[in-house]
Amino acid sequence: MHMRNIILGGGPAGLSAAYHLQDEYLLLEKAERIGGLCKSVEDNGFIFDYAGHILFTNEAYVKDTLYPMLLGDNIHWQHREAWIYSKDVHTRYPFQAATYGLPAEVIKECVLGAVSARYENGGGAVSNFHEFIYRNWGTGIAKHFMIPYNQKLWAVPLEEMSHEWLNGRVPTPDLAEILDGALRPQPKPMGPNALFGYPLRGGFEALVTGWKRHLDLSRVQVNVSVDAIDPLRKTARLSTGATLGYDNLIVTAPLPVIVELLTTAPAEVRAAAQGLRSVSVRCVNIGIDRSQMTEKHWIYYPEDTVFHRIFVQSNASALCAPPGCSSFTAEITYSAHKPLPCDDSALIELVIKDARRVGMLQPDDRILAASQIDLPFAYVVPDVHKEKNVATIRSWLTGQDIHLAGRFAEWAYYNSDHAMLAGKRVADTIRQTRQRPAKVSVPPSGRRAATNAAITTSFATPSPLLAHAKPGES
Ligand SMILES: Cc1cc2nc3c(=O)[nH]c(=O)nc-3n(C[C@H](O)[C@H](O)[C@H](O)COP(=O)(O)OP(=O)(O)OC[C@H]3O[C@@H](n4cnc5c(N)ncnc54)[C@H](O)[C@@H]3O)c2cc1C
Repeated sequence: MHMRNIILGGGPAGLSAAYHLQDEYLLLEKAERIGGLCKSVEDNGFIFDYAGHILFTNEAYVKDTLYPMLLGDNIHWQHREAWIYSKDVHTRYPFQAATYGLPAEVIKECVLGAVSARYENGGGAVSNFHEFIYRNWGTGIAKHFMIPYNQKLWAVPLEEMSHEWLNGRVPTPDLAEILDGALRPQPKPMGPNALFGYPLRGGFEALVTGWKRHLDLSRVQVNVSVDAIDPLRKTARLSTGATLGYDNLIVTAPLPVIVELLTTAPAEVRAAAQGLRSVSVRCVNIGIDRSQMTEKHWIYYPEDTVFHRIFVQSNASALCAPPGCSSFTAEITYSAHKPLPCDDSALIELVIKDARRVGMLQPDDRILAASQIDLPFAYVVPDVHKEKNVATIRSWLTGQDIHLAGRFAEWAYYNSDHAMLAGKRVADTIRQTRQRPAKVSVPPSGRRAATNAAITTSFATPSPLLAHAKPGES
């Protein structure tokens, strides 16, 4: 069997690609349902996401077209309550602009460090994330938050990470704002996502289930994985045993996985794929019998708790917990360099113990739900070799009609909005190529021209499988 377009993966990037292609496609998802990392699970009446997810975007097309189309009125907006817990107190996020409330010695170190960084640091280019932290925020902020938190989160030496990924993601307050945040409480959230959205019903997964209303579901197959890709023959072997031919293959699986699937990948491409680093996240989900456990949405923990962040799921939407209850997800990064300290019920016990230690749980809270979700690929590590490794793989793929889209396929720090745009971008490119008129003059290579014309003709043939819904027809 031959398909014009095969889409590998039914996360936000794959679903968006399917919608925007306006052509025949087959979407194959290896999990039991679509959604990728944007899924949610139910446990004893509590809904938990695959790690804390919120809706936030700077992209007009996502905000004004996709969110309304996918969620309708099932979205509500809140002012972010993001906090940091250290030295036994909560301070507002971002740490660097809200040290008020910390012990006086800590505030002094943070402010003096920031002043020295501003006036005493030499010029010159910053070559890694570690240097970036000291250069921008100084020794106090580095010591009390930036270094311990980021080491805990990324699980790699910060000297090996680049700093370009920070652009627009982490607030960089100036000296006046740092001083202001040391002298008085910070009432207003600042930085990106100060106002965020979340589906009222259904957890974050409501965003991806929204696609079901706009796709031809007969073209979407779950529980089917692509197990091998032959770029020369342009075929994909499926877990069902079938082999499908394709004109275009859109892949949204993690880049190292894709390279493994490519039967013809040369040694340098395989080496580049092996050089890509990522961290995994284990989510420990807890539901309790107390309402409104906190007014906060999420809290960062730079110190010695097993988790680096707690996402208060029942504050994202009260409908994620039964009446009179609350819930949270504790997120724990791990990697080959930073294994989980324990697993299974022992890990849940450890999270409960640490959550009691930091005041998130009270001794008499009754635990009504306790489960785990594992995210083997969670964060792409933006190390200093990342760009070169990705470029090596991309350059080999060029011209092979294999299109990368999404957070892990493009190996980029994408949120779901970027992933949806990535799917659209690839679909637009394929559509534009399809719409290019066939050449009529005989070019130098007669063989190539014949191939081009054949492809153009095959794209132009109407297919009984053409999508029903088109962008804009929602
Ligand atoms: C801890 C954490 C917090 C996050 N917070 C937010 C947030 O607050 N807001 C936000 O918008 N985004 C957030 N994100 C990012 C968001 O989850 C991703 O950007 C988004 O899911 C990426 O979509 P994708 O389609 O590129 O990849 P994925 O969601 O990973 O989808 C890829 C799909 O491909 C499938 N697949 C893989 N291999 C194969 C194969 N061989 N055959 C068939 N199918 C295959 C997978 O099963 C998966 O369903 C967060 C991510 C993490 C890890």
